[in-house]
Amino acid sequence: MPAESANVERPLGAELPSGARFVGREAGASAAWPLADAPADADLSLCVACGLCLPHCPTYRLTAEESASPRGRIAAMRAVSEGTGVVDDAFASFMDLCLVCRACEDVCPSHVPFGRMMEHARAQIEPRRPGGSRFLRWLGLDVALPHPLLLRTAAFVQPIARPFLPKRVRALAPARTYPFARLPRLAEPAAGVEVRGTVALLSGCVQDRWFHGVNDATVRVLVRNGWRVTVPRGQRCCGALGAHNGRLDRARRLARRNVRAFAGADHVIVNAAGCIAHMKAYGELVDGAELPVRDLMAFLADEGLTTAPTHGLPDGRVAYHDACHALRAQGIRTQPRAVLALIPGLELVEIHNGDRCCGAAGLYNVVEPEMSGRLMHEKAEAIRDTGARVIASANPGCTMQIAAGLRALGVSAEVVHPVELLERAYEPERP
Ligand code: SF4
Ligand code: SF4
Repeated sequence: MPAESANVERPLGAELPSGARFVGREAGASAAWPLADAPADADLSLCVACGLCLPHCPTYRLTAEESASPRGRIAAMRAVSEGTGVVDDAFASFMDLCLVCRACEDVCPSHVPFGRMMEHARAQIEPRRPGGSRFLRWLGLDVALPHPLLLRTAAFVQPIARPFLPKRVRALAPARTYPFARLPRLAEPAAGVEVRGTVALLSGCVQDRWFHGVNDATVRVLVRNGWRVTVPRGQRCCGALGAHNGRLDRARRLARRNVRAFAGADHVIVNAAGCIAHMKAYGELVDGAELPVRDLMAFLADEGLTTAPTHGLPDGRVAYHDACHALRAQGIRTQPRAVLALIPGLELVEIHNGDRCCGAAGLYNVVEPEMSGRLMHEKAEAIRDTGARVIASANPGCTMQIAAGLRALGVSAEVVHPVELLERAYEPERP
């Protein structure tokens, strides 16, 4: 018999020594996930345990623990999937220490979709959390964020409640809030400006109440460059924070809602890196939930500015911070820098190890303060050493984290969205 036919008839792995087996579930074993929303076997099996991601993982870099590495976390998920492990406190601590920064995903040669796997692993942990923690997460992620009126109330109450907030939250929360601010439903280019098309803007939850100036600047810059901007009233929080924290049902409801609100839009413009990375993956949460989402700065770079910025900035030395969900999850690096470089006299400086996570990561800086604090301190020191006192950051979580880190070092600096710098270069007299 030819050698090839003989191989076909022998079971795969028959020549392995006794006790050895291919990675995968033993015959008769079943997964030990307690809930239906589990990491997919197909995703888990992509990891070949090469370890190339390890040096890029912030939590592995700072702990040197395999359990705090992407490979270790995947091994823990696989153990549960193969029925040899369970979702217990140790499993929860491995998953909770992950920032979901997706640096591992960016460098993985096997294209392991780590972010998606982690969201599903976190969903398994939720019911195990203590009652108080579950209540606070429910209150914040299920009740407040998706409901605009409650967010307005929170923004209104924050300045009064500030002295009573936990120290860590107080250090992060911006002093100024915008409880009553409203974006126009429609903003049109001025008479005489050629209209290039219509875009719809995601106003966001935290962005609109705590960083409303970023949304205002977004509308102004788009309109100045020939885009008609609509702000659909039916939209809600994108759901990223809920998804990252194991609340996939809520994230699905928000995805469906936003798909309805933005139906028919040619482009959905998003100015927060965490939101856009999540919205680009709506289809993974809900079948057919696709939106033509565009990152604001990448959109401006790709479509081009029809009006060149004319004024330099008082302090033209600017450090650009790469948010993980722009750099790692979407590969956006050059476009924001290219747009900022159009501002007369602006000098862009690079942050040493600028591809490292700042430790904000949604709720991470509140629920994992020690690891987050170490990463924040590293990032703030690297920014201080650039000498720049203006930092451009296109994600509200990073903005709060970096501002808090610089304040803790006693560095007086301004952390702003790059579109705000662009707006100032058009209208320097605006407050
Ligand atoms: S996640 Fe990717 S890079 Fe990391 S060990 Fe697995 S295959 Fe290698
Ligand atoms: S997402 Fe970030 S913190 Fe989590 S395992 Fe990957 S590199 Fe490490």
